[in-house]
Amino acid sequence: MISDLLEELDSEVSKCISCGFCESVCPTLPAAGYDLWKGARGRVIMGRELLSSVQNHGSLNVSDSFYSCLDCHACLYVCPAGVNAGKVSHLSKSVIAGNGISGNRNPLAEMMASVTMRYMNPLGIREKCAEWFQGMEVDTGSGDLLYTGNMYQLMAYTHGMNRLREKIGKGMSRRMSSLISRFPWLIKLAPMKRDETASRRMDQSLSNIALLLRKSGISFNYLGKEEPYPGTFIYDLGYLNLFREYAGKVAKILRDSGAKRIITIDPHTYDLLKNVYPEYVEDFGIEVVHYLDLIEGSAFKGGNENITYHEPCHFSLREQAYNRPLETLRSVASVNLPPRSGRRTKCCGGPDELLFPELTHKISQNRYEELQETTPQKIVTACPICFSNLNKGPEVIEIGDYLVSKLKN
Ligand code: SF4
Ligand code: SF4
Repeated sequence: MISDLLEELDSEVSKCISCGFCESVCPTLPAAGYDLWKGARGRVIMGRELLSSVQNHGSLNVSDSFYSCLDCHACLYVCPAGVNAGKVSHLSKSVIAGNGISGNRNPLAEMMASVTMRYMNPLGIREKCAEWFQGMEVDTGSGDLLYTGNMYQLMAYTHGMNRLREKIGKGMSRRMSSLISRFPWLIKLAPMKRDETASRRMDQSLSNIALLLRKSGISFNYLGKEEPYPGTFIYDLGYLNLFREYAGKVAKILRDSGAKRIITIDPHTYDLLKNVYPEYVEDFGIEVVHYLDLIEGSAFKGGNENITYHEPCHFSLREQAYNRPLETLRSVASVNLPPRSGRRTKCCGGPDELLFPELTHKISQNRYEELQETTPQKIVTACPICFSNLNKGPEVIEIGDYLVSKLKN
């Protein structure tokens, strides 16, 4: 396995001609004060160094370069040699996680992986993630399964985790994370604080998504507190062996529920289930859609409100771009796109929120200002992570919430 990863890493980094074009679009480079090792070209160079260090049994501390990568793939679309520095970072994290090189493991990453493996949720809070659905009815006989993947719900905890880390300091936080990674049940004793305002807002977005489906005549099943997290962190952090095992368990739960079609609601879960699960789970074979695929355009009133849409990386910068959110918005409003959009869209910085919150803060502020420059009445996001990070003014709204405001009576 490690040898396959090293071979793939070698083939990716060998294509680089060191022109530096990728640095012009990499959001982490300016946010890191132009520290070259936290930019796209630096990551490719570091990938080469990692390779040589593993081959020569050396030691080299390079992990921050890779863990700070947003995996947005913006670099790929400007690289004349077709190098994807996001892929280099992911392969390098996978080499580190697979014990290919010592001294580079990140304690917080280890903790998230270990807690997820035990509780099928990165914070061990599956019950809390089902609270938004209290009092609603499900159709247990339906082959359509609404799958939130716990993503909206988890957003209410990220700021609290960062505040806790600031309070106890980096050293103590690393020690606590190391301890929890060895004894994951300790997560239940950690003083985890939910942001109640964010939680109410996210619950409202989830209820609105359920409403949009019902208005389009879709009755669906939902697993409530049995719903597992899809394993996004484990995959993104490079724990590929664990991810294979974990994805197999999730797939079994989904199949056992009788699901014939999984209705995802966020870009990360959609991309993971649609494009990554089939590679890791033998005969995965369940259809994966996004909820907007099922929403009837006739349910909405038209309109010409001037809005700006921020496209999520996992929709716009993947091999198969997913443009349904943009098409739906165009049917109800007058949509502006910022200069960086489509294949050049810019990440909100969200994937760095847990490991490098200071980078996320700078990237999201910068993106928010770019979106504001288009002078919209509303800024619409289609991802709970983008929403959480770009929610810096009353004009920012999640797509489900916006579409509900455009429903005919
Ligand atoms: S744009 Fe491509 S070839 Fe140029 S430095 Fe970046 S990765 Fe290398
Ligand atoms: S994937 Fe994004 S964050 Fe990572 S190197 Fe490429 S442009 Fe930079």
